[in-house]
Amino acid sequence: EKHSKIGGEQTLTVALRVRPMNEDEILMSSSIAHKVDDNMVILLDPMEDPDDILRANRSREKHFMFDYSFDSNSTQESVYEATTKILIGNVINGYNATVFAYGATGAGKTYTMLGMDDDPGIMARALNDLFLEMEKTSEDMAYKVTMSYLEIYNEMIRDLLQPSSGILDLREDAKGGVQVAGLSEVMARSTVEVMDVLLKGNKQRTQEPTSANKTSSRSHAVLQVTVKQQNRVRNVMQEVRVGKLFLVDLAGSERAANTLNRGKRMVEGAHINRSLLALGNCINALSDKNGSKYVNFRDSKLTRLLKDALWGNCKTVMIAHISPASAHFEESRNTLVYADRAKHI
Ligand code: ADP
Ligand code: MG
Repeated sequence: EKHSKIGGEQTLTVALRVRPMNEDEILMSSSIAHKVDDNMVILLDPMEDPDDILRANRSREKHFMFDYSFDSNSTQESVYEATTKILIGNVINGYNATVFAYGATGAGKTYTMLGMDDDPGIMARALNDLFLEMEKTSEDMAYKVTMSYLEIYNEMIRDLLQPSSGILDLREDAKGGVQVAGLSEVMARSTVEVMDVLLKGNKQRTQEPTSANKTSSRSHAVLQVTVKQQNRVRNVMQEVRVGKLFLVDLAGSERAANTLNRGKRMVEGAHINRSLLALGNCINALSDKNGSKYVNFRDSKLTRLLKDALWGNCKTVMIAHISPASAHFEESRNTLVYADRAKHI
């Protein structure tokens, strides 16, 4: 089927996280993103040229509403608890869910998803909670949890846990489910183990050659966690429930917007543009309560891979990221507009 109609009980949550200013920004910029309350953020146009009457006449303040907004004081824990924790029970019970980190390079996506060794992000926290929840019911239920970690770069899929596998193909199985052929799966038992696997995997992401501190922005990184649950009781039907949780660190969104790129950068930009646009369209359709919109998942590898998790009874969370520094005004505005469009039609 070319198009899939959105239906069922999917829900979309859109959050915003504003990272703290770094030392350079504190010296060179003013802060232009301000949290009003738990939902609303104001973006100030820094108006570099105050004599520009046309600009001055436009309102300098733009208000953006989200399901959650997190400012620079927010903790990894609070972001995880508000956005992702509620998905854990669903995944154990055989439903699919997805969390995306969206934003320009340097806006804080990897910090939110992967985080630091001593302050893990959503990925390790979600797995930790999965382990804890399963322990609670382990007398009645048998579980198997596996994780895979891949990147999509220029519409090519690579296994971040086994890079020697080369470029992998997407296959659809008989039931219409989407699989990455040859993708390795690992079992993890603890948060420390998970973090170790992910940090190693992240080093394999396609790197930024030009600047040392802005890495891994050219590819989408997808952590796929699969939970299989089966009742231990012998005389009941041995039904296996499979739930998947996708945690996605998207490519830097500025790549899509920068039309000055040439050559290799332009090709990358076009691929990122295509997948972020396709994703935006899919998410946009999810937010349509009447379910009257049609979505073309085939538009990109990313949306094909996530098809099972973007429609049906699925929950989707998008966490948009911005820097509050005036130097990043254009990027931040673009991100806020994308996130806003995802929610409202
Ligand atoms: P991205 O993945 O979007 O390119 P990063 O997550 O790598 O951006 O963040 C850029 C820099 O800012 C990193 O040095 C990161 O540690 C820091 N940073 C990002 N978000 C936060 C935050 N919420 N608190 C503290 N430091 C942050
Ligand atoms: Mg990153």
